[in-house]
Amino acid sequence: MFTIAKTEASRGLWPVLKDSLREPEAGMVMVDVIAAGICGTDYHIYSWDAWSAGRVRTPMTIGHEFVGRISAIGAGVTGFSIGDRVSAECHIACGTCRFCRTGNAHICEKTSIIGVDRPGAFAEQVEVPASNLWHVPEGIPDAHAALFDPVGNAMHMVASAKVTAKDVLIVGGGPIGLFAAAIAKAHGARTVALQEPNQARAAIARSLDLDLVVSPRDPDSTDKILELTRGQGPEVVLEVSGNAAAINAALDLAAPGAVFALLGIPSGPVALDLGAKVVMKGVSLLGITGRRMYETWYQVEAFMLKNPALMGKVITHILPATDFARGFELMDEGACGKIVLDFASLKGRLPQ
Ligand SMILES: [Zn+2]
Ligand SMILES: [Zn+2]
Repeated sequence: MFTIAKTEASRGLWPVLKDSLREPEAGMVMVDVIAAGICGTDYHIYSWDAWSAGRVRTPMTIGHEFVGRISAIGAGVTGFSIGDRVSAECHIACGTCRFCRTGNAHICEKTSIIGVDRPGAFAEQVEVPASNLWHVPEGIPDAHAALFDPVGNAMHMVASAKVTAKDVLIVGGGPIGLFAAAIAKAHGARTVALQEPNQARAAIARSLDLDLVVSPRDPDSTDKILELTRGQGPEVVLEVSGNAAAINAALDLAAPGAVFALLGIPSGPVALDLGAKVVMKGVSLLGITGRRMYETWYQVEAFMLKNPALMGKVITHILPATDFARGFELMDEGACGKIVLDFASLKGRLPQ
């Protein structure tokens, strides 16, 4: 079977033909992948930055955002049948620690991640625990259904920050920022502004019909955001850039009492003026990781069923899986929204 793997501890990803998988273990299922999204995490692994070099053991098949059909079922699995169309939560939590047992499996310290710590979904087949599967309803197209994971990140952030009737600023217009903007609108934000320097991404944001799309390089950007937010600044900031300067600028701009949710991962420690900008302003900082299991999944399913047009605007490319290198080049250039790789069309065309 065709897979996309990190075979060397250096920049790049390589196509690898592997033997088809054996029968799944007890509690596991085999999924024939239909489509898989390229995530920022995959881009980190492709780039081989400090985080991925410290975490990923080569060789490793990567990819964790996917939809597929069940092709084999291990012993003891109930509730699923061969042929079912499923996605899966890529964080495999331990299920027994204090966090898992208190409804917080997304912060389980023993999490193993599909496509990071164990073989991933950039492959014709992936083996996953049945406990992590999600039945995808008929009304959601394959390219959308592959994206429960990143839309879930955005959903978890927006839902945690409670945006209804609030002025919301999204810092960063990559796919998660774009999904977060669409979700914030759908959740009844008073205004949604998005800040993004890349023109291609700003253009996608404009297509989402937001209240303001602005470049941080625009000298009037702060004035425009203040004007939109009654001179007070945003009451909710959703930070997805991971950029230290952008984080500081947004913290300056945030209204007193704001909720400041952070999902973007900075490349190193970030200095913040906590006294003046957080304590004295009464700002709440929220770290956002993963998705709530499985509350976020129900929310994402409802959003995808109701908003296919918004989903379609953020997905800018669907590439044959064999053209994955082109996908990563597009990400290098920042010339894309979300990229989805098509694995279904490989069926029967490649040696198994
Ligand atoms: Zn992802
Ligand atoms: Zn746990």
